[in-house]
Amino acid sequence: MTPTLEITNLKLHFPGHGAPIRAVDDVSFSIAPGETLGLVGESGCGKTTVANATVGLLAPTAGSVRVLGTELAGADATTLRAIRARAQMVFQDPVTSLNPRMTIGTAIGEPLLVRKVARGAELRDRVAALLEEVGLRPDHANRYPHQFSGGQRQRIVIARALALRPALLVCDEPVSALDVSVRAQILNLLVELQARHAMSTLFVSHDLAVVRHVCDRVAVMYLGRLAEVAPRDALYAEPRHPYTRALLAAVPEPDPAVQRAKPRVPLSGEIPSPANPPSGCRFHTRCPLATDICRNAVPELRQVGESQVACHLA
Ligand code: SF4
Repeated sequence: MTPTLEITNLKLHFPGHGAPIRAVDDVSFSIAPGETLGLVGESGCGKTTVANATVGLLAPTAGSVRVLGTELAGADATTLRAIRARAQMVFQDPVTSLNPRMTIGTAIGEPLLVRKVARGAELRDRVAALLEEVGLRPDHANRYPHQFSGGQRQRIVIARALALRPALLVCDEPVSALDVSVRAQILNLLVELQARHAMSTLFVSHDLAVVRHVCDRVAVMYLGRLAEVAPRDALYAEPRHPYTRALLAAVPEPDPAVQRAKPRVPLSGEIPSPANPPSGCRFHTRCPLATDICRNAVPELRQVGESQVACHLA
């Protein structure tokens, strides 16, 4: 079966003051139909850059991005427009994602109108159904964004992203800007919608606790490269890359007894600059297990049990 998203040897480099910034350096992964993949890592690791490339907002320096089998790299404007209808993005901040002067009915209906999918009474019906689908009321259509809470605004953004029935939803930190109290509601809504429409989802987050609730598989990114890709349960039960172990050790446990029993894996130091990444394994400057080989040879992603791991010692 054709993957919904297939990324192969993706590179995104940007001009810097000296050397180019290698934000994404040789990343490959795919997402099957109906599957949710979490892409996690600290801020600046390149995960948002990957997300932007998957919906055609950034052109790759090298490599391939295929959505439903169609290549985005080097595609003409018509192909890009067609693909963008099938791959929709939900950004972190629902405030800046919505035009304050546009009613939410107009905002949600806009993609349907622009692509001539519906108009008039049919458009109103479709907007009403989308509002109900995300837990809002049809009569909300006449209101403006400022009349809603942060959580409701993210529901509106999700409704607009769903309007064209995308095959791929790309969510970039969709709950980070929201109050902790409403995060679970939005995550549950995403899980529900994903199951109902059998959509594939790329879920970008710095928060491994959040990713655990919504993803089938998890890819961990460090300084522009993938460190580990594994089925969710395998990753949380038996993290194989030292960086994944350090990230997981930093996630607080609600149960104090479990928290006390957790292994301590300190993650020291700052992420090095992607303009001048460390030689060999990019994690070697922060890895407690680093040896000479780590400084000299780049570890490739290889299969270890159910996981793919880029570590010489895995
Ligand atoms: Fe640590 Fe070496 Fe493995 Fe990199 S390759 S994660 S430095 S042990």
